[in-house]
Order: sequence, then C-alpha cells, then structure tokens
Amino acid sequence: MRYSRQRELILQQVQSRCDHPTADDIYTAVRDESPGLSLGTVYRNLNDLAQRGVILRVTVPGQADRFDRTTHPHGHLCCRGCGRVLDVPVEPQAIEQLWRQHTAAQVEGYALTLYGLCAECAAATA
Ligand SMILES: [Zn+2]
Ligand SMILES: [Zn+2]
Repeated sequence: MRYSRQRELILQQVQSRCDHPTADDIYTAVRDESPGLSLGTVYRNLNDLAQRGVILRVTVPGQADRFDRTTHPHGHLCCRGCGRVLDVPVEPQAIEQLWRQHTAAQVEGYALTLYGLCAECAAATA
C-alpha cells in the first residue's frame, strides 16, 4: 500500500492526542488540511495502521472503536460520566500471573477495560 500524505496526517493526528479518538474525531480534525479526504479513507488507514501494530485499536462495547498511540499493554477506564476513555497503567506481570496460575494456554494478548467514573466525575458526584 502506498504511503500517502493522507495516511501521514491521520497517523500524526493519532500520535498527537491522548484522548483515544474515534475515526470520526480524526476525520473532523484532518479534513480541513486534506480536502477530498473521505471518512472511508480514514477508516481504511486506521484499520491498516492498527493491523500492523503502529497504533492500537481500543474496542469499547456499544461504542465506535477508538485508536490509541500507546501500543504497549495497558488498561482503559470508560467513564460513564464524561464519556472519556482514560489510560490505566497495568503491571504486565500481575496480569500474566492471573492466567499462568490456572492454565497452560498460550495467551497472546488481552484487553482490560474498566467501567465507572473517572476521578473528576467521581469528585463531582461526591
Ligand atoms: Zn469522567
Ligand atoms: Zn490507551
């Protein structure tokens, strides 16, 4: 696949944000800079970048997929108050221990998604 300027813009956009943007967010942010860009092209490029491990796809049930510049294993907190998806640091060894103790299966990956309120929303409702 050719390495286009559009793809460069899309990748730069993901890498400059820490808010786990959706394809729609990316499209809205770069379409002014790239006339003729379609939402379909944004999807295709994001999917391809995620497949190659350049960025991480974050799947939130019932919501549009989000994309993450941080590709090493970490968890996410979905806040039901403000709708943000925030990074949660995880200790890889602690997670691995969960299955190593119980199974000989070869686990190749995992996604950890927590649900609740972020610190700001929790403080606002307290
Ligand atoms: Zn919140
Ligand atoms: Zn993340």
